[in-house]
Amino acid sequence: MAKRTLKDTEVEGKRVLVRVDFNVPIDQGIETLASYDHRLRASLPTIQYLLERNSKVILCSHLGRPSGRVVEELRMAPVADRLSLLLSQPVGHLPDCVGPEVESAVETMSSGDILMLENLRFHSEEEKNDPDFARALASLSDVFVMDAFAAAHRAHASTVGVPQYVPSVAGLLMQREIELMGRALESPELPLAALLGGAKVSDKIMVLENLLGRVQALFIGGGMSNTFLKATGYSVGASSVEEDRLEVASQILQRAKNNGITVHLPQDVVISREFRSDPDPESVRTVPVDQVPDDWYVMDIGVRSIEAYVAGLRACKTVIWNGPMGVFEFPAFAEGTRRIGEAVASLDAATVVGGGSTAEAVEELGITDRMTHVSTGGGASLEFMEGKELPGIAALPDK
Ligand code: ADP
Ligand code: MG
Repeated sequence: MAKRTLKDTEVEGKRVLVRVDFNVPIDQGIETLASYDHRLRASLPTIQYLLERNSKVILCSHLGRPSGRVVEELRMAPVADRLSLLLSQPVGHLPDCVGPEVESAVETMSSGDILMLENLRFHSEEEKNDPDFARALASLSDVFVMDAFAAAHRAHASTVGVPQYVPSVAGLLMQREIELMGRALESPELPLAALLGGAKVSDKIMVLENLLGRVQALFIGGGMSNTFLKATGYSVGASSVEEDRLEVASQILQRAKNNGITVHLPQDVVISREFRSDPDPESVRTVPVDQVPDDWYVMDIGVRSIEAYVAGLRACKTVIWNGPMGVFEFPAFAEGTRRIGEAVASLDAATVVGGGSTAEAVEELGITDRMTHVSTGGGASLEFMEGKELPGIAALPDK
């Protein structure tokens, strides 16, 4: 169901509360903020749209896990400063997100001003979705814009509470996420492929189940392929296998077969004697999947698998990608993810990337702009791919 968006409402000169997701890992030090600009940039279209229409822009976000207390290191001020650099405009910062001081600061705003409220999670009422807290936030504004797709899988005061008390719309980032991921799932140009990897089958069962009913081709890599390989009868050495998911993996393969879905599993794998970032070159090899020694780890898909996947992907018109093909954080095992990423980016197809680690890998590879869409939601994008309606989207009025 299409949601009301920013473009369906009048914002000229109005006080507009925008829920953004500026949850950057500030605990790693303020100097690392610059490398997370993409989180801020993602909401710039919404912010700029509002500023161009002389709105009074009031931003709110959570930051880290302060668990309902004020934590000095988790204040929004450095984020407001960073945003101000990106916007070339001052961004005010308030010491709280509700209360008389905040109300009077909002009252004195002029058209085209922008300010950032303090970390929402300094109040335990945020995560409890407390109605009074939601009402207090809502009362700061004439219109609420939900742009925090990455927080939309949480039913918190600022995601589902506020829209009950003030006219609300989806922001431009939110709209983009819903439209592009929604189209890939609901009305993709066919053939549709799912390219799935990452750590565990158990994290992705619901994604697998949902996609299985939609795709023509399934490509499996990453740690989860170990469980599938084992379910198919191969030994995967010392790699961790989710023994309790072997049955599910077999069922998924059987269902895929019954539905005529082409399933690609690795034919060869990069293995290592040690699970570490800088292994001795002697202890890294590429072997066929039936030749993994007992005490070796499967770290990446091998070159023959890469070539087979690249060839298979070329036939697809829509690709949904979640999960790295190997332990991409270690350069020695990043090749599968890199080459598959490059291949997806080069396709003449709609390409949609979800998952926090996958988005990071794509960002590191510098291919974000060559994808149709890289979701800004980690957990939220997974739930979306599971076919769930996210509470923060459900709470917004339909068109
Ligand atoms: P996302 O966050 O995109 O949903 P995941 O969190 O499921 O992705 O997966 C990412 C993790 O999977 C990475 O940390 C990566 O190291 C790990 N991974 C990928 N391949 C393997 C493998 N063969 N063995 C162990 N871990 C792997
Ligand atoms: Mg992850």
